[in-house]
Amino acid sequence: MTSIPLRWLIITPFVLLTLISGSIMYFFSTVTISNIANNIGEQYINEVENRIEDRVSDFMSPVNDILEINLNAFSNRPEMLSNLTPLSLRLYEQATPHQQMTFISLATVQGKYIASARDPIRETKHNIAANFINQPFTIEGFYYDRYKGIGDKIITDPTFSYDPRVRPFYQDALKAETITWSDISPYYGYPTLGIGLSAPIYASGGKLLGVTATSIALIELDNYLESLTLVDNAYVFLAEKNGALIASSGKEALFERSDKGYTRVHLKDHPNSLFQMASKFLHTGSYHLNSEGSGEDFLYHVRPVTLKYGKTWLIGIIIPSSHHKGILAEYTEITIFITLMLFACIAFIGSAIAWYIGKPIQQLNQATNDKRIESILSLPQPLSKIREIKSLSKGLHLMAENLQDTLQHLEKKVSERTSDLQDENHHLLESSLTDELTHLTNRRGFNTAFDAALTLAKKNQTPLTFVIADIDYFKQINDTFGHTAGDNTLVSVAESMKKYTRSDKDILARYGGEEFVLVFVNLDKEKAIERINKIRQEFANTPVLNDQHITMSFGVVGLKNNPTLTAPDIINLADKRLYQAKNTGRNKVISE
Ligand code: GH3
Ligand code: MG
Ligand code: MG
Repeated sequence: MTSIPLRWLIITPFVLLTLISGSIMYFFSTVTISNIANNIGEQYINEVENRIEDRVSDFMSPVNDILEINLNAFSNRPEMLSNLTPLSLRLYEQATPHQQMTFISLATVQGKYIASARDPIRETKHNIAANFINQPFTIEGFYYDRYKGIGDKIITDPTFSYDPRVRPFYQDALKAETITWSDISPYYGYPTLGIGLSAPIYASGGKLLGVTATSIALIELDNYLESLTLVDNAYVFLAEKNGALIASSGKEALFERSDKGYTRVHLKDHPNSLFQMASKFLHTGSYHLNSEGSGEDFLYHVRPVTLKYGKTWLIGIIIPSSHHKGILAEYTEITIFITLMLFACIAFIGSAIAWYIGKPIQQLNQATNDKRIESILSLPQPLSKIREIKSLSKGLHLMAENLQDTLQHLEKKVSERTSDLQDENHHLLESSLTDELTHLTNRRGFNTAFDAALTLAKKNQTPLTFVIADIDYFKQINDTFGHTAGDNTLVSVAESMKKYTRSDKDILARYGGEEFVLVFVNLDKEKAIERINKIRQEFANTPVLNDQHITMSFGVVGLKNNPTLTAPDIINLADKRLYQAKNTGRNKVISE
């Protein structure tokens, strides 16, 4: 089975938990920030739209108000229409307070026309236009006269034939039979669009008396949208429901003139590709537009602004997502940074804990794998501040100490036992080479000792004399005094012979029952025989048992004359000479 290192066991969950919590944190913060950013975008759009809506209402209200006032006045007091000249005072005074007002006019059913009018681009002051002063159906321009209304003729103004009854404002009003908007169209000769409201005037009996109208130049609205301070790359526009532009924050033209007339610019044809994209979404709502050129994302919102008499325009606003996403990016960066820092901190803490736990365990592991008690004993104490590891290492240390004591004790015991065994062995060896009764070397011991002495003597060419001795008529002693007395005799004989041998050099051994051998090392035959005779002398002088004297017979072989003899040869030869001594009367030494 595979084993998992402790370090991984600690670090892996740490890393996994960090990754999971980091992802969750990142996800939630991103979603929250994204929502905040979107809200900021929506809020911004709402604010701009409200401002535009207010402005449009303010801008358009005099068109309605003045028309309604005049319609009421002319309907209720039709006599006002019988003399149009003083009406110029009324129309002029109505128009002057409103910058955007270009025409306030009245046309009678007979084709007379009077208006307070102004050049929509250059003039701020109103003048009076009328088609009945010098020639009927010929329109002329006059300076305003605060007393008479119609003042001096303006020489520079063109004079041309003009029947209002064929003009669209008149026709539209008749067709609608009520207050109605005319189409937005460019003013003749001026680079601006205009829009007019006109209404038929009926007498109380329902008879048509004429048409009254108001008209304003939309350049003011266009200027207003251009003047709005928007975030970079943001656009606003006012358009009709069909997408025809009324005003925009851009400087592009709103219509084009040609020989055939004019063409209104629609959103779908606008040079700004964002406007083209917006043209596909003219229903109230929020949309995302993706600029093909830069790949940038734009938030686009469109909503209606409702005017009186059934007119609805659209307010569109396009802002780059980067405006609110910028805030998102900033917060996301902070979030990523904080997440990364948290990652680093958690990874660092995880590694520190793994190291703190893992290191002492690794030390323990190494020490135990070492298979030496010293490795465990040399571990620092305490090994760790962690309670479990501390107690584990303490226990292990104690065990190692006990084991070491036991081993030392065992070693001592073994060496004691070994020394005892050596003593015993030595003792056993000694006793195996010693005769039990006389305590002399036994036959086995003699063989070894004799071989060594003989080899040395031959090597050094030193003298050596071998003697074999046998007690005469020993059987009789046994028979007469008993076996124990016989034994005691053997012990006394051995003691006597011992006196005449040199314990450090010579060999004295019990060779068999009552047979003994003597090896005189570095002593020639004659000297040896002298010593044997002294032994014989002692036996003759000293009784062994109850005045009983014993005698012994001896066979002697000296090495000097027989240097090539082996140990068995020497023994055989000495045995032969002993036999000879026995056969020739006993109690004698035979050496030749
Ligand atoms: P000889 O002079 O021919 O040697 O006569 P002997 O009686 O000594 O004859 P031999 O050497 O053949 O007999 C040895 C006797 O010694 C026989 C045996 O009973 C006796 N003997 C041998 N070993 C012991 C012993 O350890 N203790 C006792 N008490 N007697 C022993
Ligand atoms: Mg014998
Ligand atoms: Mg004998």
